[in-house]
Amino acid sequence: MDLCRIDVIRRLMAEQNITLKKGYGQNFLINPTIPEEIAEAAADKRDMMMLEIGPGVGCLTQELALRYEKVVAVEIDRGLIPILAKTMAEYENVKVINADILKTDLAALVEKEGEGREVSVCANLPYYITTPVLMYLIESGVPFRSLTVMVQKEVAERLTARAGSADYGAITAVLGYYGEAKMLFTVTADNFLPPPKVDSAVVRIDLYPAPKYTPKSKELFFGLIKAAFEMRRKTLVNAISARYPYPKEKIAEALTSLGFPADVRGERLATEDFAALSDALSL
Ligand code: SAM
Repeated sequence: MDLCRIDVIRRLMAEQNITLKKGYGQNFLINPTIPEEIAEAAADKRDMMMLEIGPGVGCLTQELALRYEKVVAVEIDRGLIPILAKTMAEYENVKVINADILKTDLAALVEKEGEGREVSVCANLPYYITTPVLMYLIESGVPFRSLTVMVQKEVAERLTARAGSADYGAITAVLGYYGEAKMLFTVTADNFLPPPKVDSAVVRIDLYPAPKYTPKSKELFFGLIKAAFEMRRKTLVNAISARYPYPKEKIAEALTSLGFPADVRGERLATEDFAALSDALSL
């Protein structure tokens, strides 16, 4: 079944008496080459478990099923479950779960369904919860190898930005602690039903199997990133001293010891610089 065809999607949904739900971020892919490319990019070996968030009617799910040993797809919309039962019937390696990903115990799910396989995530994410879902995944403690996700193009640019660029933000610096994000390709809005207002892009985040940066205080490290970007226009010395009781001279000294001018703004610091700064301040 061609699950990217508009008439097929409409018929499957009409049979269940449901329509596309904007509130669940339902923009379904209607160009079959895109789910193929996303599935292909998600891993370079077969014996994996792929966790998909939001399978919709299953266009990406079936491409994952053809390439990986096990696919677990978590879909919040109860109305799509009977459709997926039909469209995924021929794929014995697919398990569909009706749940909200943000309320799912990921460690328990992976333990139960993964059967010892390495696990990655692959999804065309619902845009209204992109950042919460990414944070939920990376903070879950589950050792995902990678997250290959379609997100709004601007979000993709943020996730993959370099320190000092206009797109660089708190999420970029935080994500840099967990792994490395790469922009794979962009997807224009006309490839979706209904077309969203903005274009999209696929990003692959390869998560570090062991932490690359080990700040002495993770709390201070994340707190410094938050302070830096909450007050983006301020110098980092002012942003940090507004939130922490360090004397401004001590913060300036720490920055210059790391090779930055004392009046630097936070957006120039890469993840590793925030780690070094938090260590210099916690001395
Ligand atoms: N994978 C399909 C595709 O590429 O055409 C659908 C992608 S659509 C952008 C997002 C999907 O995520 C929808 O099926 C939606 O119902 C589902 N979804 C939205 N919020 C969710 C949540 N909190 N947990 C699980 N699935 C969710």
